Amino acid sequence: MFNIVVFGAPGSGKGTQSLKLIDRYGVHHISTGEVLRQHIKNDTDLGKIASEYISKGHLIPDELMIHILSDELDSNPAAAEGVIFDGFPRTIPQAVALNEMLVKRGAKVDAVVGLEVEDEELIERMLNRGRETGRADDNIETITNRLKVYHTQTQPLRDFYIKEGKYHAIPGSGSVDHIFSLISEALDPLKQ
Ligand code: AMP
Repeated sequence: MFNIVVFGAPGSGKGTQSLKLIDRYGVHHISTGEVLRQHIKNDTDLGKIASEYISKGHLIPDELMIHILSDELDSNPAAAEGVIFDGFPRTIPQAVALNEMLVKRGAKVDAVVGLEVEDEELIERMLNRGRETGRADDNIETITNRLKVYHTQTQPLRDFYIKEGKYHAIPGSGSVDHIFSLISEALDPLKQ
């Protein structure tokens, strides 16, 4: 069992690197952003609530988000073998809840991959992604809010995981393959 948190600002490459991690380690992938976007696409009750927050660049409230994550773990048998958590946790209460959820399942967070990228590059990447994919929250107003929220609510998790001895800082600029080679160097020794 190998549980990895892929951590970083919006636009830092969490989704891209998570896909490569799935290939390498064969574990289940949970992207909370994707789960929410799927609900919005299917126009579910949760999707209606989520789109209010996402369109403003705000975080979905912790209690709701923790509930969604717990459901994802319960409804995917493959999650028992290990998970790449992409976009969760984003707050200290979510990180505490994740530790508790995993302990209950006889597991733990094994490693946190922190993709570190400067804000100017993040903005440029998200504007490009918005142009290429039409992703609704990749517009300058929402991006500005998402970065503000990241720095105030999510970045404190870096220290949380450094204190737990789990944080691996990865420079997130450069080619996708080079960044992935840095991630592999950090994680391979942890995977028996
Ligand atoms: P992402 O695709 O990870 O960038 O997530 C897109 C949006 O979904 C975020 O800007 C938040 O509004 C929402 N979201 C995703 N994951 C979480 C989370 N763990 N906690 C709160 N909101 C989240």
